[in-house]
Amino acid sequence: MNGISGTAGEGADSIVLSGGYEDDVDYGDVIIYTGQGGNDPETKKQVADQELHLGNMGLAKSCIEGLPVRVSRGERLDSPYRPDQGYRYDGLYTVDDFWRERGRSGYHIWRYRLLRSPGQPPLPTPRGGASVASPAPRVPTVVQRIARNTAAAQRVKEIHDHRCQVCGERLETGAGPYSEAAHVRPLGAPHDGPDVEDNILCLCPNDHVRFDYGGIAITDDLRLIDRVAGVEFGRLRTAERHPLSREHLAYHRGLAPRASIQLALRS
Ligand SMILES: [Zn+2]
Repeated sequence: MNGISGTAGEGADSIVLSGGYEDDVDYGDVIIYTGQGGNDPETKKQVADQELHLGNMGLAKSCIEGLPVRVSRGERLDSPYRPDQGYRYDGLYTVDDFWRERGRSGYHIWRYRLLRSPGQPPLPTPRGGASVASPAPRVPTVVQRIARNTAAAQRVKEIHDHRCQVCGERLETGAGPYSEAAHVRPLGAPHDGPDVEDNILCLCPNDHVRFDYGGIAITDDLRLIDRVAGVEFGRLRTAERHPLSREHLAYHRGLAPRASIQLALRS
């Protein structure tokens, strides 16, 4: 059976392809995966509509959060990429997109385009030697929004109920509310900021970009400064359970020149 491991709230962390669904398409590095539910395990045909909940919602969550998914293939899969026997772990994929459509049997199914993450050993040579030509992705936009969705980041988002600490907006999507975790002192060299709650803000995507790229500074008494216009424009929304490190805020205020350079290099 196909299987999705994960929850609607936290995203799907792994899936198995094993030939249980008639609408699956396997190109190796690109998979058009069918969500779970509504099929007859004997005939593999869809006999009912699929709902966007449980594992299906989990995969949608993984898409909007940019979370990687572990993919395994089983020997009964109808694909040249199936293993000789048993199950084979084939590495990490990202969920590039998801949508609803009518499957071969006429019922609504949820579909997910999975792209194999770069930097992994290639898949074994497909059976029969002939590789299936992979279609050009509809849009060449691989999700690269949030690679880091750690436990600390999740907690900060939950404390603020996904409401942006700068503008107060809570983005609603078809897969639930969406927010981003912004590290005040950035992770990684040379900043080496810690992945802890007092170094993380819950922001909307716009304010995340502004914050990371020198558009916003936060004073020690949590006033918001628009660095471009040079004016104060309000106060950071706070929560008692979520104190912020003044040291990291000061570090962030010192980053603007460097951040501006990074932005120039990216554009
Ligand atoms: Zn915002």
